This record gives sequence, C-alpha cells and structure tokens, in this order.
Amino acid sequence: MPTPFPWMSAELAALESAGLRRGRRETRPLFGGACEIDGRRLWNFASNDYLGLAGDPRVVDAAQTALAEASVGASASALVAGRTPWHVRLEQALARFEGQEAAILFPTGYAANVGTIAALVDESDVVFCDRLNHASLIDGCRLSGAKLRVFRHSELETLERELHKAATFRRRLIVTDAIFSMDGDVAPLRELCGLAERFEADVLVDEAHGTGVFGEQGRGVCEQLCVEDRVAVRVGTLSKAIGTLGGFVAGPQSLVDWLWNKARPQVFSTALPPAICAAAVTAIEIIRSEPERRSKLWQNSDFVRRELAQLKIDVSLDSVGPIIPIPLGDPDAAVAAQRKLEERGCLVAAIRPPTVPQGTSRLRISLSAAHDELALKTLVAALLEVLSVP
Ligand SMILES: *Cc1c(COP(=O)(O)O)cnc(C)c1O
Repeated sequence: MPTPFPWMSAELAALESAGLRRGRRETRPLFGGACEIDGRRLWNFASNDYLGLAGDPRVVDAAQTALAEASVGASASALVAGRTPWHVRLEQALARFEGQEAAILFPTGYAANVGTIAALVDESDVVFCDRLNHASLIDGCRLSGAKLRVFRHSELETLERELHKAATFRRRLIVTDAIFSMDGDVAPLRELCGLAERFEADVLVDEAHGTGVFGEQGRGVCEQLCVEDRVAVRVGTLSKAIGTLGGFVAGPQSLVDWLWNKARPQVFSTALPPAICAAAVTAIEIIRSEPERRSKLWQNSDFVRRELAQLKIDVSLDSVGPIIPIPLGDPDAAVAAQRKLEERGCLVAAIRPPTVPQGTSRLRISLSAAHDELALKTLVAALLEVLSVP
C-alpha cells in the first residue's frame, strides 16, 4: 500500500538497527502476579499493581456492581454532566485518604501532571525539573510555556544556583517524582522543600509510585519523609498501587477549585468510567484496612535485594522498595536479557532510551505483594542464570 509518510519506514529501520524499535505483544493478565504471553505463563515483574489490587475480587465486584447501575462510559466531561455519584464518592475517598480538603480526578496520571503544571505556571514563571522526572512532568513543564530549567538528577547545588538566578520571575515551581520510576530512588524531598522555602518557590510532587507503597498509612513518600505540609501540590495516579485508572490531585479546596477551572485535560476530557471510580474507592479502603499488603510488598522487595546482593548481581544501589533496576547499558543486552528471562518463566521489562538516557538501558524488576515465594525464587534463579558472567 502506498504510504503518505515515505520517511517513516527508513526511520523505523534506523530505530531497529539501533536496538530501539518498540514492539508490541498481547499480554493476558492472570491472577497472583502472573500473566500469559504467546501461550506461555510468566511471573509478571513488569506490572505496577504493587498491592495485587487490580484483580482483587472485592475491587472487581465493586466495578461490577456499579456497572449494573451506571452506563459504562461517563458520556460527558465532569464539568458538564459526567460527574456521577461514583466520581463524587471517589473524590471524597481520596481527600480523606490523603488528609486533604478536596480532590479532583483526571483521566490518567499523565493528564493530571500535564494539566496541573500548566494550570499553575505560564510564560511569566520558571519551572525546575529533575532530568529523570517522568515524561508527563516534563511535558507539563513544556506545555505550560514557563521557562524550563532542567537540573541533573537530584543535584541540589545546581538547583540552588538556578533558584538564585530566578528571583525576577513571578513564580517558581519545582517539580519532581517522589520515586523515580525507572531508577526506583527517592527524591530528596526535605532538601527540595528547604530550597523552595528559601527561594519562595513551590514544590509539586508526583507520587505515582509512592501511593500505597510508602508511608505508615500508605500516602506515599511525602508522608514517609514528613513533608506533606511543605509540599504545595501532590499528584497521584489510580493506575499503580490502586490498581485501576485515572489521576488525581488532593489538596486545599482553593487549589482543587482552581484546577476545576484551569486544568485543560480535566475540563476537556470525558470523566472516568463510573465503574472505575467504584473500584478505586474499594481499593483505597483495602489500602487503609490491610496494611499487611504493604508489609508483604516490602518483604518481597527486601528478599529479592538480599538474594541479588548475595549472588553479586549488580542492582542500582540508590533504589529502594519494589522497583529494582539492573543496569546493563546496551539496549540489545537489555532486550536479550528480557528474552532469556522469559524463557525461564519471568517477565522483566527491558527499559531503553528514550525512556532512560543513552547508555543506561536496564532491566527493571517491579515487585508486588501478589508474588509468592515460588515467584521470587524463580526470578532470582533466572536472573542468576541469565546475568552471571560465564
Ligand atoms: C505511570 C506514571 C505516571 C502516569 O500515570 P498514569 O495514570 O499511568 O497515566 C505519572 N508519573 C509517574 C512517575 C509514573 O510512573
């Protein structure tokens, strides 16, 4: 068939030869931290379902009950006619869970970051962005039109220097992941808040990998590091530990009111499906009432880290919690390792540029409370076979 974009096949071939072309496969979810790909059952170490809630019978049941009472789609944006009783219940549940006055929902965490940043700063302002921040934060910074200052990962001296030079801007916003999604390390939130206070800046924290995983109550890294009152905006996602779909911001009523007026991805997208909201409410209740899930996740993470250390398998040392990156450098090496791990029954994601910087391709293990001892032992044995130098 003639193509309207003749340059594309050459560009795709270039990606292919650089080891960077993205493929796609069909993944059938199975219960208990597993999935099926190409007819083969694999332990799934590439999922963000940290607490095993995506398939929890109570969460599924809540969605089904809502489906019996509501349409599948919300049929309108939340401002027009799409904000159903299920949405209101979820907003309230999130505000209560986060200990905040109010909460606002977004179609995804990506949309929450993009929409929130662009609602807070514009051309008169400057935004400071860690180089390893999630793409949605970076895209939000770009879309906002604010001056963008990217600083080397967690380099506070550079940030301080840049803040020093930024006094003439109307507003200064520092944006950061709480847990860096591909490295699994924790942002220096106390220090970032300290700098923000010194230079009259605000801090926005993306708790995508923190919610449900970190903190005594599972509210995330801000809770764990006791900076909830010092962080101006906390963005979260429902798609990871909460096991469903959607993004949110929980905060003071004034912030939430502002976002209802100004966050374009929220204003101009259809509201979340009601059944998703019902499922998320139940998942949040489980996170509150079953902290043992969080303990199990940490036990699993500690077990794998300990075993890998004993086997002298090099993991990224700054990482904590369920994200364990194994640096390999070369994209082909990462893809080959992924394939060999699959032959041994484990799905572990090979992460390549542009998701991570050039030369830092890696395997990224993502653990879940749903993994049992057999899953973890299978993983460790497979990694030993695939990664040990012959
Ligand atoms: C996954 C992720 C997002 C996006 O969340 P979705 O709800 O999947 O769109 C945002 N920020 C970070 C750090 C993430 O890892």
